[in-house]
Amino acid sequence: MAIQEQMLEELKNKEIFEQARSCAYEYIDGIEVMDVFPSKSSLENMISFDQTLPKESVSAKEIIEQLHEFGSPATIAQTGGRYFGFVNGGAVPVSLGVKWLSDVWDQCGGLYLTSPINAKLETVCENWLKEIFNLPKETIAGFVSGTSMANLCGLSAARFHLLKNLDWDINEDGLNGAPELRIIAHDQVHASVKKTLAMLGYGKKSIEWIPSDNQGKLIVEELPKLDRSCLVLLQAGNANTGSFDYFDQVCDLANEVGAWVHIDGAFGLWAAASKSLSHLTKGMEKASSWAVDGHKTLNTPYDSGVILCRHPDVLISSLQATGEYIIYSEQRDPLLYTPELSKRSRAIELWATMKYLGTKGIDEMVTAFHLRAKQLEKGLEEIGFQIVNDVVFNQVLVASESEEKTKLIIEYIQKSGECWLGGSTWQGKAVIRVSICSWMTTENDIKRTIELFKTAEMTVSKNGNPDINP
Ligand SMILES: *Cc1c(COP(=O)(O)O)cnc(C)c1O
Repeated sequence: MAIQEQMLEELKNKEIFEQARSCAYEYIDGIEVMDVFPSKSSLENMISFDQTLPKESVSAKEIIEQLHEFGSPATIAQTGGRYFGFVNGGAVPVSLGVKWLSDVWDQCGGLYLTSPINAKLETVCENWLKEIFNLPKETIAGFVSGTSMANLCGLSAARFHLLKNLDWDINEDGLNGAPELRIIAHDQVHASVKKTLAMLGYGKKSIEWIPSDNQGKLIVEELPKLDRSCLVLLQAGNANTGSFDYFDQVCDLANEVGAWVHIDGAFGLWAAASKSLSHLTKGMEKASSWAVDGHKTLNTPYDSGVILCRHPDVLISSLQATGEYIIYSEQRDPLLYTPELSKRSRAIELWATMKYLGTKGIDEMVTAFHLRAKQLEKGLEEIGFQIVNDVVFNQVLVASESEEKTKLIIEYIQKSGECWLGGSTWQGKAVIRVSICSWMTTENDIKRTIELFKTAEMTVSKNGNPDINP
């Protein structure tokens, strides 16, 4: 059969979709019992993918079978309740459901003309996000892959705006010979911000680094005198401690002189949606731009970053794309707000998740991350661990009596398959880093995790190594 006929037949009989669906159901039903990090044999079995590119078409059925048999066990059980690595977040069920449907639509989200529904839902999401975060009404949103890209958009807007105020049009005149901007960042900004600055032409040495306190917050008294050539980088949610900068004070200082404040709020901006935690983000609405992820704290599937900017013209100009074939409409054209042209219609999952949870549900979910973090803090303290940070949000940094033991405990827990968490260093010391950000995590999951810490500590003390079966 010619390949086209074959594909038409697949669309018609839908067998591959049914097959994929039953594999997915099996995965969902096994999520609580599978190894949180793949076992050694599951990792080794990925050798099944070391194949040469076939000349002849391989059956779709066989492809899905292989992916499920050898791919599913080699995944991280991130949608379960005991994955505490990095700051990843789970996935709200309806967000997966609408993703399936919209995957079938396969919309090109760049223009109104290429996907009216995506443009519509972007507008709805933009309004809802402004409401949740209490941002000024003129704020616009661009929907990008993640906070790294959102940071790039925000900083590029800042560069455009500050240079423009110094009578320099970067789109026309370029960066060579441009007036100097002062980039002010504290030593705890996220790696993605440093990367973005470098991409925009601001290397490490050209940045005025400001010290931070023992929670990773910028020390306001250490700020130099600001002026209108300044870009100030703040953070909502330190990736280690979960701490928040003093937005209120810094934004006031910046706004007085026309400096630009950008807040990297990848996971922390969502604290604003919790009544009991919103004190953490006080004054953040006074900034000029904000970067946030749906795929972390809000638990949408991956590929859901947002740039929010209070100066619409500036964001659009800094990301300006023109081309004869681009047909703009009276409606929203999503590509105006992002560096991408063709892009996935990612606002669909964000819309569904916000609508499903509502402001009450978002509050409940975000607050629960904090409560579980406090539960873990208390439980671990009770069995003799040291909690290194102030648990203000969802991050818990843990240490054992020695750095060596801390590292062995991480190794033990990672090998156990029962939960997964990472290591980090905080103020020069090895720590265990736990991030609670999945809606699936229950009180019982935290209890099990505390038990696991206890067993890990006992085994490591007794054997001096992290081997589960020494
Ligand atoms: C995760 C994170 C980023 C990067 O976001 P991506 O979505 O991974 O690109 C930036 N800043 C902070 C504080 C983060 O936690």
